[in-house]
This record gives sequence, C-alpha cells and structure tokens, in this order.
Amino acid sequence: MPQVQRTDAATVLAPTSLAGPVWVVAPHPDDESLGCGGLLAELTDLGTQTWALLLTDGGASHPASVSWSRERLAGQRLAEWHAGLDLLGVQRGRRLALNLPDGRLPFPQQEGGAAAVAAIRSALAQAVPATVLLPWRRDPHPDHRAAHALIFAALEDWPAVRRLEYTVWLPERAESADLPQPREATVWSADSGRQAARKAAAIRCHASQLGGLIRDDPDGFVLQEDMIRRAVSGHELLLEVRR
Ligand SMILES: [Zn+2]
Repeated sequence: MPQVQRTDAATVLAPTSLAGPVWVVAPHPDDESLGCGGLLAELTDLGTQTWALLLTDGGASHPASVSWSRERLAGQRLAEWHAGLDLLGVQRGRRLALNLPDGRLPFPQQEGGAAAVAAIRSALAQAVPATVLLPWRRDPHPDHRAAHALIFAALEDWPAVRRLEYTVWLPERAESADLPQPREATVWSADSGRQAARKAAAIRCHASQLGGLIRDDPDGFVLQEDMIRRAVSGHELLLEVRR
C-alpha cells in the first residue's frame, strides 16, 4: 500500500489557525466524518463558524436492493448525515444538501456540470467561506474527483479562499500517482485523537453503510471495519496545494 506521507513528517495543523466561515463539502454523506470529522469537532468546539454542504443524494450504494428504493435510501442517508453533523457540532441552520446524482457526479465540463457549479456557488454564497475543506483532488473515487473540480470551479470568483483537501480513500485505494507529488502540497496533520470517540460515533451514524441495515443487496457497499479503525486512529491528513 502506498504511503500518503509519514504522519511525523507532516506539519501539525492547529484548528485555531483556520479562519471562518469554514465550509466542509462532502460528495457523499459520511465523507466529512471519515475525512475530517475530528477537525470539524475541534472547530465547532472552538466556536468557529462551520457550515456543511452535501453534494449527492447518496442513493446509489445499494442498487440491487428491492426493499430500499433509491428514494428511500437517499432519505435514510440524508438523515444519517444530519445525525453525524449533530454529533460533530455543526448547527442545523448551517447545512445544505444539493441532491446531485450519487455515482454520476459530473465534472464541470460535462453535462450537468455547469448547473452543479452554479448550485455550489449559490450555496457557498450564503456565508462566503474563508476556508473550504474538500476532497483531495485525486482521492480514488470518481465522485470525489468530480466534487473537487466542481468546488474549485465554484470558487473561481473567490480566489483568496483557503482550500484544504481531506483524504477519504487514499490509504486504502491509492495508486502512487494519486498521492501528492514532491512539493505539490503542504501536508497538514490534524490531531484527531482528542475527538476520536466523537468521530467514531459520527461515522456510526451512517448505519446504511455499515452492513446490517440493508440485507437484500449482497454486492451493496459496506464500509469495512479496518477502514473505520484507520480513520479514527491518530491523525487526519489535509493537503494544501501550493498556488
Ligand atoms: Zn464518498
């Protein structure tokens, strides 16, 4: 497995150094908890104004299930997203969900891309961000890469916004080319240890992704326990690409 970077070689990210409003943008419900749930908990504890934006409906994780239609699953996943954010301290009035298609999130130049960029821009305009937490540009999931491109396009009018790219699937799925290249990015390490229990509880809110809840799609997505253990132990890596 390629290494993102040895954590002890990263620069420690102090949550107090992030200016608000901070927006965390997630392609799917659970990405914010897995990628930077500890940092979110730190920020909300500090009183930093923190907003959350969900891009897709999350309804594609169990396509063969008969008892869980796409609509039912999307409703469940939205409820799970809210429950996780409750635990992480993001206020209810500071959450927006765009209902874009899970598994088919377009890049800006593709069909539907311009409309998605416009929707993200108008969401962010509700509290123009000082800092955006978004998926790493080469996180190994097509929706995560598309999300990155859409968010960058939406931020074109706000060039000064600080962008920190969280990692979700990098340790489990990355090819070498997916990793930050030498001098490409500052690698920040957020110590999520103090918030590990809250982060784990937020991840556990996503029952539809943990196996057990949806039993009639054997090929449906299941978040593996190894991945959860890795995500809640130690540090969260955030990459800030040099501009
Ligand atoms: Zn995701």
